[in-house]
Amino acid sequence: MKTKLLIGGKLVVGEGLEEPIINPSTGEIIVSIREASKRQLQQAVTTADNALKSWSQTSPMMRAARLLKLADLIDEKAAFLSKLESINCGKPYKQVLKYEIPGVSDTFRFFAGACRCMTGSTAAEYVEGMTSIIRRDPIGVIGQIAAWNYPLWIAAWKMAPALAAGNTVIFKPSELTPLTILSLADIFADIFPPGVVNILTGRGETIGTDMAEHSRIAMISVTGSIATGQKVLKAAASNIKHTHFELGGKAPVIVFEDANLTEAVEAVRQSGFYNSGQDCVAACRVYAHKNIYNKFVDLLEDAVKNIKCGQPDDPTSEMGPLISEQHRERVAGFVERAAAQPHIKILTGGKKVAGPGWFYQPTVIIDALQTDEIVRKEVFGPVISVTSFENTEQVIEWANDSDYGLASSIWTSNIKTAHQVASILQYGTTWINTHSVLPTEMPHGGLKMSGYGKELSIYGLENYTVIRHIMVKY
Ligand code: NAD
Repeated sequence: MKTKLLIGGKLVVGEGLEEPIINPSTGEIIVSIREASKRQLQQAVTTADNALKSWSQTSPMMRAARLLKLADLIDEKAAFLSKLESINCGKPYKQVLKYEIPGVSDTFRFFAGACRCMTGSTAAEYVEGMTSIIRRDPIGVIGQIAAWNYPLWIAAWKMAPALAAGNTVIFKPSELTPLTILSLADIFADIFPPGVVNILTGRGETIGTDMAEHSRIAMISVTGSIATGQKVLKAAASNIKHTHFELGGKAPVIVFEDANLTEAVEAVRQSGFYNSGQDCVAACRVYAHKNIYNKFVDLLEDAVKNIKCGQPDDPTSEMGPLISEQHRERVAGFVERAAAQPHIKILTGGKKVAGPGWFYQPTVIIDALQTDEIVRKEVFGPVISVTSFENTEQVIEWANDSDYGLASSIWTSNIKTAHQVASILQYGTTWINTHSVLPTEMPHGGLKMSGYGKELSIYGLENYTVIRHIMVKY
């Protein structure tokens, strides 16, 4: 198994503390990896800084060629990468192979093309005898810190636009899930000049904090929890870093009485429980109109009861375990506190699955109120709440009454209702009659405490550039 870090084009063993990497389906240690030391971070920053001078001057065509080569090699290794991701995260293998690895290579391909067709304002004479030109230039050395729920996909979302725009990168995967990106370290070393891509493993409180505080890192991009975003934002103030945050979510799903209930239920089953609900856009906070509430709940119960929870290598498994014992305890705590409320009913699930691994039953909680913790806080597990609403004004108010602003969906057969409600919702994405569809061409990112800045799309590329004005006097 490849476990070496990548610094300045060389594969090296970490000099920091040893971190056991656990298989969440069994609770067993897969391998132990030493995290990067402060000295190694410094080496990575120096080498990234040196590499910036030439990498930022390469043509988009040259950068695109390297990204396309990387995408092809990822496709060639799709089965291996899916297996490794599946072992490290507990995800069903066939889902990683079908949805995630193709998404990874597509992201590298998209940004390979996008950097060749960035557009800007026209150059013009805003002052007589002088020409103004707008440039979009790379920002510099970028520190990127990722979550564990889609390890390689998030790596692609971050690394592809940053590299395509001409920046150099220091990427830190989650300490829980470094295996897939480390397995590609030698490929990155072969494809990119030394220092352009650096991969360091380690915990948030050590190497993550050091990255956020480092004075030669010009931008820090984080996918993680709101608490981490807040800490990084404070640390980033030291040298006024550019910042980009993809933080938590609590997606409202608004089901009007004229919705196609079969489709709405299927989407909640899919999106609420994919990746065991460990998904920032998971369809987890359902509001169903009072006139269809009982019918919706009955259909949802039948749909969720038959979700097959099992080992990742079982081709019939639809849902694997949670990422860690600690996270399962956190999820169980939310459900226990909800169940203790007299007005709440656990429709299905609500228990840990006995045996090895950190499995938790797919769970539906009904009759929840807007004020309940289960409606307001991100659980990040296979747990959905359902709340009845009376009218459109009320449900818009409830949907927007949240610290989060990442994603939302509206279910109705009335196009007017759909557009009117969509225009008022305070979410980075609002889907109408669908949920959790993230095309690479479209932006993904939050409002409010879900963060700011965009992943994917041309906006994701622009995120990794600065605007400059060049003025020539004749
Ligand atoms: P986390 O915040 O615990 O960790 C995320 C990353 O930040 C890890 O690499 C961790 O090592 C690092 N980190 C932790 N503390 C740090 C610090 N003080 N300084 C610097 N780095 C630090 O989050 P997690 O448990 O890995 O992921 C789950 C969270 O991520 C959820 O809230 C989820 O909604 C969010 N998420 C958001 C998106 C999105 O696109 N908005 C996507 C996936 C996950």
